[in-house]
Amino acid sequence: MDKEQRTEIETIGEFGLIDLISKNTSLKHPGSLKGIGDDAAVLGPTDLVRVVTTDMLLEGVHFDLSYTPIKHLGFKAVAVNVSDVAAMNAIPTQVTISIALSNRFSVEAVETFYEGVNLAAEHYNVDVIGGDTTASRSGLVISVTAIGEAKKEQISYRSGAKANDIICVTGDLGGAFMGLQVLEREKQVFLSDPNMQPKLNAYPYITGRQLRPDARMDIIHELRELDLVPSSMMDISDGLASELFHICKASDVGVAIYEDKLPMDKQTYDTAIEFNLDPITCVLNGGEDYELLFTIDQKDFPKLEKHPDIHFIGHVTAPDEGKVLITKSQTAVALKAQGWKHF
Ligand code: ADP
Ligand code: MG
Repeated sequence: MDKEQRTEIETIGEFGLIDLISKNTSLKHPGSLKGIGDDAAVLGPTDLVRVVTTDMLLEGVHFDLSYTPIKHLGFKAVAVNVSDVAAMNAIPTQVTISIALSNRFSVEAVETFYEGVNLAAEHYNVDVIGGDTTASRSGLVISVTAIGEAKKEQISYRSGAKANDIICVTGDLGGAFMGLQVLEREKQVFLSDPNMQPKLNAYPYITGRQLRPDARMDIIHELRELDLVPSSMMDISDGLASELFHICKASDVGVAIYEDKLPMDKQTYDTAIEFNLDPITCVLNGGEDYELLFTIDQKDFPKLEKHPDIHFIGHVTAPDEGKVLITKSQTAVALKAQGWKHF
């Protein structure tokens, strides 16, 4: 938070704050007929279907302000919702942002939060069309709703996977989880000796994955250009294994994935070793990577075969074949939805 200037919210009041927030928002979508400033936003008609998704972020549960830059938090709040729109194979168009603020928050802090929100709105081409602002007695609460659109036949559900489909994941996995371990460790070091500065420079990639995730809209746009609709899709927010279980349940299928195909960044691997954690467990169960997990029909494989950032980790099987991980030594082990408990 900005230490140089601190304006209490009560000096400008709720309406002053909303004015300040709305000053920097602009409407880009022709479908956004009315944004901030009335009792409700107004959206125009469309011949597309719409998807709507909401995610709530609570201080102390989903983020820790002692190491989370507030601008990144604004970006992340939008990005995680855009990621859910992407996971339906839809294009995000509008978001609403609701915040509950404790008196620890200054006007400057709210402005910094909205810098992050507006950066994300620009990056994902969505309009901020409204929200709500209220006081909180215990910490910051952020609730974002995102709206997106697609042709009806373009929507990818969790339920569409069929036996023999190929399982794909984007990017690399486990990084955000390892980034969180580093941030938590440095926080403990700082708490025990405030003169010690956190050593984060050695872990730029994984701490960035935790603090400022990017929804994979780039992949969604590429899939459209290739005229490819995944048979099923999810974003990876709770960990790959857990998301695979959701697809298996919704689609009534089994899966076989291969340990040596799982994408992992070197910094994730090295840090897992440093923390005495099994790197594969981190990749399978680490959350918050916001990559995409999807299945494609085999006939679509040539369209993606050479893609540098899409990895083919296994295939869909009949439900009675279960959910298995084929290890590097070619043994099949039952996939577990959680390697360790977070709660
Ligand atoms: P109401 O009393 O009807 O809830 P508000 O005074 O809360 O209205 O909101 C006025 C306008 O400002 C509305 O358009 C609302 O969507 C918008 N707004 C309020 N808080 C936020 C926020 N945190 N972010 C974006 N827009 C907001
Ligand atoms: Mg309101």
